[in-house]
Amino acid sequence: MKILGHYIDGRIQPGEGRTKPVFNPALGELICEVAMASAEVVSRAVAAAEAAFPAWRAMPPLKRARILFRYKVLLEENADRLVAAIVKEHGKVWEDAQGELARGIEVVEYACGAPEFLKGEHSRDVGPEIDSWSEFPPLGVVAGITPFNFPAMVPMWMFPMALVCGNTFVLKPSEKDPSTAMILAELLSQAGAPPGVFNVVNGDKEAVDALLVDPGVKAVSFVGSTPIAEYIYATATAKGKRVQALGGAKNHAVVMPDADLDAAANALMGAAYGSCGERCMAISVVVAVGQELADELVRRLTSKVESLKIGDGATKGRDMGPLVTAEHKEKVSTYIRLGKEEGALLVVDGRLAPVANGPGYFLGGTLFDHVTTEMRIYREEIFGPVLAILRVETLAEAIDAVNSHEFGNGSCVFTRDGAVARLFSDAVQVGMVGVNVPLPVPVACQSFGGWKRSLFGDLYAYGPDAVRFYTRRKTITQRWPRGGLERMQFAFPSNG
Ligand code: NAD
Repeated sequence: MKILGHYIDGRIQPGEGRTKPVFNPALGELICEVAMASAEVVSRAVAAAEAAFPAWRAMPPLKRARILFRYKVLLEENADRLVAAIVKEHGKVWEDAQGELARGIEVVEYACGAPEFLKGEHSRDVGPEIDSWSEFPPLGVVAGITPFNFPAMVPMWMFPMALVCGNTFVLKPSEKDPSTAMILAELLSQAGAPPGVFNVVNGDKEAVDALLVDPGVKAVSFVGSTPIAEYIYATATAKGKRVQALGGAKNHAVVMPDADLDAAANALMGAAYGSCGERCMAISVVVAVGQELADELVRRLTSKVESLKIGDGATKGRDMGPLVTAEHKEKVSTYIRLGKEEGALLVVDGRLAPVANGPGYFLGGTLFDHVTTEMRIYREEIFGPVLAILRVETLAEAIDAVNSHEFGNGSCVFTRDGAVARLFSDAVQVGMVGVNVPLPVPVACQSFGGWKRSLFGDLYAYGPDAVRFYTRRKTITQRWPRGGLERMQFAFPSNG
C-alpha cells in the first residue's frame, strides 16, 4: 500500500511511524495510507522553512510575484490532475472541485499584486527635515492548518499571500484528503520557489500540537471546526504567536414574502446541498417569513430535494457526491434521527435514498420543516445535506434568530425590497452578508471571515487582511539635519 509522506525542503520525504488510511468516499475503498508526522518531522520542516527565510525575505517582492505568476499558469495547466485528486479523496462533484480550484487561483492572482500592496506608507515633512514611513516586513515561518472540505482552496487562502509577503510556510493539511496539498507543493517548486519556502507535513493532532509550540513558528492560520479553532487560538497565542482561527458555522437564509421564489428555491438548493452540505458557507437554515411563504417554499424544495442527482463526482453532471467518511455519514444520520425525536417534521429523509445503501458514504438530501431554535439540529453544525426550515412571522424575528445563534459566519436575505435588504445587512451580526446571493464568499480582493464563534482572532483570511496578518508594521522616522549641533531637548518631541 502506498504511503503518502511529507514535502520538506523542496522534495517528497517518506513518512516514518504512524499512518492513517485515506478513502475514496464514493466507492468506500481504501486509496492509500498517509504518514502522521511526529514532532521531530515537524521540527525538521520548520527548520527547513527557517533556513529558507533570509534569502526569500530578501528577494524583491516583484520576483516573488513572478514565481506566483508562473504558479498560476502551472495550476491551470494541471487543473484536471488537481480536480481529480480533490474528487477522489473528498468526494465533491467534478464541477464543484473546479470551482474550488478557481477560487484558490484567484488568491494567487491577487498575491501577484505584492509590489503594490507591500510598498508601505510614506509621510514627508512630519517635522523639520523629518520624514517618516511604515514598512511591512514578513514575520518569518508561518503555519497553516486546514480542514478536509476544501483541500485546494483553503490552503490557497493562506500560503500565496504569506509567501508573497516574504514569509516561508509549513502547511498541515487534513489527513482525510492529503494528496491535493502534495501536488500544490510540487507545482510551487516547479514554479521556482526555492527549497524550504513551502513545506507540507501530513499528520493529525500530534503534528498540529508540535507546530503550535515550536518557537520557530511566528503565526498560525487555522480553518476548521469551532472547538479546534478555539483550542488553536488559546494554545498558540499563549506561546506569543499571531493567530487567526476560522471555525464552524450555521448559516441562515432569510426568505421574505416578496422574494422571487423560483430564484430563491434554486439558489437554496445549491447552497444547502452543494458539496453535500460540507461547506462552512453552506445554508443549513432557511428562515421563512410568513406561513404562506413557508408552505410554498417547502413544497418547491421538496420536489427538488427528491430529484437531486447523487453519485460519484468523477462522473460529470452530478449535483451531489458522498460524505467524506463513513464516520461522518454516521454522524449526519444520527442528527437526522435526532431531529425526528426532537419533533421536527422530516419532509425528506436522506437515509431512505437508494444511494444511501452504498457502496460509498452517500446520503440523500434531507429536509426538516417546523424546526425550532431549541432543537440540537438547529443549534449545532451538522455539516451534511440537511436543511432546516425555521418559520417566523416578521423580519425582526428572523434577524433575531441569526443574531442569537452561536455562529456568525454568513447569512443572506432573499427579497425584492431594497430597504429590507439594507436593514438586514446593517443588523445581522455575521461577517459575510448576501442579498439575493446565497453563498456570499468574498472575492480575493476582499477578505473572508466570520463573527462570534466562527472566528477567533481579528483579521480575516486572504485579501487586504492577509497583508496585515502576514506582515508586521515597522515605522521609521528619519532626519538628515543640514549643519548645526543638535540642541538638548527635554520636552516630548512635537510640532507644537
Ligand atoms: P477539524 O476541526 O476536525 O480539522 C481541521 C484541522 O485540524 C485538520 O487539519 C485536523 O487534522 C486538525 N485537528 C483535528 N482535530 C484536532 C485536535 N484535536 N487537535 C489539533 N488539531 C486537530 O475540521 P474538519 O472536519 O476537517 O472541517 C470541517 C469544519 O471546518 C467545519 O466545522 C467547517 O465549518 C469548518 N470550516 C470553516 C471554514 C471557515 O472559513 N470558517 C472553512 C472551511 C471549513
